[in-house]
Amino acid sequence: MTGTPVIETHGLTRRFGRLVAVDHVDLAVRRGEIFGCLGPNGSGKSTLMRVLLGLLDPSEGTAHVLGCEIPRDAERLRSSVGYMTQRFSLYEDLSVRENLDFAAAVFGLPRRERRARVSAALTDAGLDVYAEARAATLSGGWKQRLALAAATVHRPQLLVLDEPTAGVDPQSRRVFWEKLFEIAAGGTTIFVSTHYMDEAVRCHRLALLRDGRRMA
Ligand code: ADP
Ligand code: MG
Repeated sequence: MTGTPVIETHGLTRRFGRLVAVDHVDLAVRRGEIFGCLGPNGSGKSTLMRVLLGLLDPSEGTAHVLGCEIPRDAERLRSSVGYMTQRFSLYEDLSVRENLDFAAAVFGLPRRERRARVSAALTDAGLDVYAEARAATLSGGWKQRLALAAATVHRPQLLVLDEPTAGVDPQSRRVFWEKLFEIAAGGTTIFVSTHYMDEAVRCHRLALLRDGRRMA
């Protein structure tokens, strides 16, 4: 199956009224690669991701993700995809451990597997010391680590990260990217958006978006 792209789109388009947010985009993302989506604010990165995840319907064109036709088979994707939204979207009032346990439950991990999986994710993310701390008390960099741990606790085949390091300090960004390379080396495909050029050059391959169109 190495030959089949993990993400494949043809002429993928999403309009909001008269605005064309994603404009006939063709993509082929291969298994195990870090594929970057670089573009300024408003270029359609988040919209493209939401369409690929089946959260928004395309207006035109086709998309296949992990062999599922989008949006028809999007429901089947849920357990195999991890998604980190642009803004921190975990529960500030829950502890770090509770957030991971909740994420694991949402992704359908059975209760008996959850405890071990959450412990492994805590250790893996270096979050053990903060396990019982409320998410709200973490610094920006640690929140990003928690969000990444929550998005990967079910060991997805595909990880979709929407500007994961926006507003995070350079040191934390570096650590975060090291983690991404580790995850990709384990065979997980990563589709990540950014507007930082230095992050874009770390990706294996890139798509440059502008006004919803793929420029390069
Ligand atoms: P990016 O993530 O690259 O900043 P977005 O995908 O968020 O870009 O937005 C692309 C364009 O689509 C922008 O002009 C934005 O205002 C518009 N847009 C995004 N979501 C919606 C929506 N739900 N309704 C109307 N317009 C939207
Ligand atoms: Mg965005």
